Amino acid sequence: MSTPRSEAVAAMAPLVEMRAVTKRFRVRRGAFHTTEIAAVSEVDLGLPRGTAVGLVGESGCGKSTVARLILRLLDPTAGSIRFDGTDITTLAEAGLRPLRRRMQLIHQNPSAALNPRMTAFASIAEPLVVQEGARGGVLVERVAALMAEVGLPGEFLHRYPHEMSGGQRQRVCIARALALGPSLVVLDEPTSALDVSVQAQILEFLQSLRSGHGLTYLFISHNLAVVRQVCDRVAVMYLGRIVEEGPADAVLSAPLHPYAQALLAAVPRLRQGGVLPSVAGDPPNPASPPSGCAFHPRCRFAEARCRTERPDLVAGGDGERRVACHAVAEGRI
Ligand code: SF4
Repeated sequence: MSTPRSEAVAAMAPLVEMRAVTKRFRVRRGAFHTTEIAAVSEVDLGLPRGTAVGLVGESGCGKSTVARLILRLLDPTAGSIRFDGTDITTLAEAGLRPLRRRMQLIHQNPSAALNPRMTAFASIAEPLVVQEGARGGVLVERVAALMAEVGLPGEFLHRYPHEMSGGQRQRVCIARALALGPSLVVLDEPTSALDVSVQAQILEFLQSLRSGHGLTYLFISHNLAVVRQVCDRVAVMYLGRIVEEGPADAVLSAPLHPYAQALLAAVPRLRQGGVLPSVAGDPPNPASPPSGCAFHPRCRFAEARCRTERPDLVAGGDGERRVACHAVAEGRI
């Protein structure tokens, strides 16, 4: 039986908690062989309620896999995932169904996310009809209210995606995501397919929605300036692992991990003074990752230990962040 104290503790716990989550995929190698690739390895990540957590890193570093694991669109190979206190790691579809409505995904490309044969009304109404059996005047009223909330005038109700701009299509996607009253919204590069002039409007709108609805965001983006604008915390991924995590302002202005420093080197206006070194070389092949710290072939701080011993993600620097780096732990950075 829940008590006021247990309810208060539950309210303080992160909405989402990933513990040592690993996801391996089997891929074909040659005509007769297959091999396993770890897309995500031993990821520990919490999404505190009502906050926006950014996930950044190069293409293929595992950001989208983390998002799909949290939404249980993928089953983890190992580790555990809790959503609002419920362990969803192995929950069957029947148990997941009531939770799915509380987790929504907004895709990068609103044109691909919307059915070209459905009007804005039909797209937004669909989850209300399917999940709640809404009909008639109630349905029309709820869709109209959602349209108003995302700033689309009533005349857009019967427009098809090709009759709207990119920003208007993304607003329809957001209204559809809001329809069932989610707690968590995963935003996968939500503005990267939009014109620059529209991006700022959508970002501002997403921020006001979050505070207005108490939403929790997982925000995936290549654009570190956007992440800094929107997110409270940020996690930097490299080859399937989190290498630095902490308050967005701290990590994105004075990163500690050499890879995070290299990412920031490309965005001089975000740094607090000083010049950061850029990173040499290409990301390694995930099918045969380097031993020890996977970043060692590209790292100017690498020492012998880095080639054999993988660093754990532990408290580092100001104590508010976690960093996976021997040089940081040893005080060399
Ligand atoms: S552990 Fe070693 S190789 Fe890895 S980032 Fe730190 S210094 Fe560089």
